[in-house]
Amino acid sequence: MKTTELKAYKERLLSLRARLRGDVSQMADAALKKRRSEANGDLSSMPIHMADIGTDNFEQEFTLSLMQTEEETLDLIEGSLERIEEGTYGQCEECGVKIPKTRLNAIPYASLCVKCATQREQGF
Ligand SMILES: [Zn+2]
Repeated sequence: MKTTELKAYKERLLSLRARLRGDVSQMADAALKKRRSEANGDLSSMPIHMADIGTDNFEQEFTLSLMQTEEETLDLIEGSLERIEEGTYGQCEECGVKIPKTRLNAIPYASLCVKCATQREQGF
């Protein structure tokens, strides 16, 4: 993979990481506010509202991938950042083939090719 491409994925991973971490602290904030307003007897304020969810494919894939726990996703992002440093980013950890760019574009922290990811999901 070209250095410029790697750099782009790295930036994307870094911003995803920042976003996930931000989301986590926002959720903690919201929980705190909720507790406070409940203590005040103010039940009308709804602290949790859906964040600005975009409509393009990337956003959709990202939202779907949030079905994993945020911690798992953060781990995957950390792993991908390490692989960028090691020069193995974009290769399947299982079989070593190049992960298609369409997959990396959708899930920049993917560490397995589609075949291996499917097999793992099915428990092989
Ligand atoms: Zn593979």
